[in-house]
Amino acid sequence: MNSSMISKIEKAHRYAQEPDRIKIQGLTASFHGGHDDYTVAMNGDHWECTCHTYEAHTIGTCSHIMALQEILKNMLSADARFALEPAEATT
Ligand SMILES: [Zn+2]
Repeated sequence: MNSSMISKIEKAHRYAQEPDRIKIQGLTASFHGGHDDYTVAMNGDHWECTCHTYEAHTIGTCSHIMALQEILKNMLSADARFALEPAEATT
């Protein structure tokens, strides 16, 4: 392995310790919930989930979305992680 590749790998390790450098703009995830498997999707700042809670209520979030927001919080824009704020999530 040449020195240029080694320095890239070292840089990658440093970047991996700094997740706030990264902003996720979209993703699709399968979520193994307590009762069933769901699909959670995020596009820009908008989240969707295939679970009953998300589809039956108009709050725009559910426990699966909130869990992903917590896991990814350092890599989400402020708008994409809004549901972590209980006051906003209930309005
Ligand atoms: Zn859900």
